Amino acid sequence: MAYDWVPKTKLGKSVMNGEITSLDKIFEQGYKITEPEIVEKLLPGLKTEIVFIGGSPGKGGGIKRTPTRRTARMHRSGRRYKISALVIAGNEDGYVGIGKAVGTENRIAIEKATKLAKINIIPVQRGCGSWECNCHGTHSIPFTTSGKSGSNKIVLMPAPKGIGLCIGDEGKKLMRLAGIRDIWVKSYGNTRARVNFLSALFNVFKNINKTKT
Ligand SMILES: [Zn+2]
Repeated sequence: MAYDWVPKTKLGKSVMNGEITSLDKIFEQGYKITEPEIVEKLLPGLKTEIVFIGGSPGKGGGIKRTPTRRTARMHRSGRRYKISALVIAGNEDGYVGIGKAVGTENRIAIEKATKLAKINIIPVQRGCGSWECNCHGTHSIPFTTSGKSGSNKIVLMPAPKGIGLCIGDEGKKLMRLAGIRDIWVKSYGNTRARVNFLSALFNVFKNINKTKT
């Protein structure tokens, strides 16, 4: 938490002086969050995770996963590198956001992506839409929903208690930070494109919020 935070926006000031005490209030009013400190202050249990979007050939074959992705382009003076990072923020209890950013160094890209993940936070509607479980709890999602990003399409399906997160490691990070414990996933398209995969997953949560229940 940034205790030396000096709010720059009207919303930030309202959060700082205690006029606004919950994120839900902000979403209800339709305010746009532009300062990550707002989310840090209102969600004390906020955590972040870096999605491993990069890869380099490992010793003895295979791909070694790396936190950031480096892409090169040619320039008159030689190669120029661009570092991309993808970060998830969430409180493991119904709020999650993702942020993508580029920078000239790892640290800069990760810092920028972390700020964006906080700013992009959304409420996650959890529930138990599994007919096999039907416990009325919040361990899964309320109904089957899809999301898209680029050529990726993902369908998330409610799973009964105890099934766990039936999704790849990077997808698990998003589910955990959102506070989902049981889920089934079907994906279409190039699922190795992790940025699109994670964006499509995040869009599933956005689409759940758009669906009137
Ligand atoms: Zn259940």
